Amino acid sequence: MRHLLWIGLIAPVFSSPAFGWGCEGHQIVALIARAHLTQATSAAVDELFRSTPIDPALNRFCKDRPNDPLADAATWADDTKSAEKTSVWHYVDIPRSATAVTSIDPWCPPIGPSVDGKNRPGCIVNAIEYELGILRDTSRTPGDSATALRYIVHFLGDIHMPLHDSDNNDQGGNCTSIQFFAEERPANLHAIWDYKLIQRELEKDKLSQPAYAASLNTRFADRFAAATSGPADAPLAWAWETHAISESITYGKLEPAIPVETPNPQSVCATERDKVQALHITIGEKYFAEAMPVIDERLATAGFRLAALLNATLR
Ligand SMILES: [Zn+2]
Repeated sequence: MRHLLWIGLIAPVFSSPAFGWGCEGHQIVALIARAHLTQATSAAVDELFRSTPIDPALNRFCKDRPNDPLADAATWADDTKSAEKTSVWHYVDIPRSATAVTSIDPWCPPIGPSVDGKNRPGCIVNAIEYELGILRDTSRTPGDSATALRYIVHFLGDIHMPLHDSDNNDQGGNCTSIQFFAEERPANLHAIWDYKLIQRELEKDKLSQPAYAASLNTRFADRFAAATSGPADAPLAWAWETHAISESITYGKLEPAIPVETPNPQSVCATERDKVQALHITIGEKYFAEAMPVIDERLATAGFRLAALLNATLR
């Protein structure tokens, strides 16, 4: 399935199926991580990207990219996911009703090759482990390592976005219809979390991505130790942690509430959207005030964990 992205501030707002945190979200995560890399790791990251640059012919969705190779790399996986058949690696559709005591296996098939031009099987949890395996393998070419690093930078962002770890037969909130402030047309919950809320926040404070990353770094500095206290690579735990936030905040603060559905692989997007539309949910200042601190915390946590992971892997 399909997730929309945190679209760039100056990028046109569009509604085609796409990515995870949009441009700003991914860039901010990378910039927060950069501030916590050791000197050696920071140099290793830059050297890898310098050795195998992103194909200049690749059409980059994010036009406003900070002048930092890690932030530039952070959105590459969205630009290439249809060509690379890796779309399903960006999320895991854990049903809303599931709790962390159950196995993730039903929603996360083993990583495999593309067959008949279809997407490669897998999910964000095992995709992170898979790419980490490549990055750790010193017998790999610099090109393989650079690609693995680009995936990891991106997936560490996506896995901390609540709707990349949760599903209500609605493709991670994509098949919903919600009034967002006074906008002319309704939006979907995934797009609202991808970019609409953060876009509103950045515009309100007139902040660039580097300035916002710096402010989050300061605000959440005392949370670094706790966020990185577990194993450096713990994508399963991160997915469950973020799934719980989806339930308590992303879906949980909607008024009126969207009922928790019984998982149905045959659900139809348009039907699900109609059901939500009939609830006449509006997101305004109250939800914004509840969601934004959580988005900020997720971005900071993702950046901290990315730094810890790279410091442990590229020394
Ligand atoms: Zn993504």
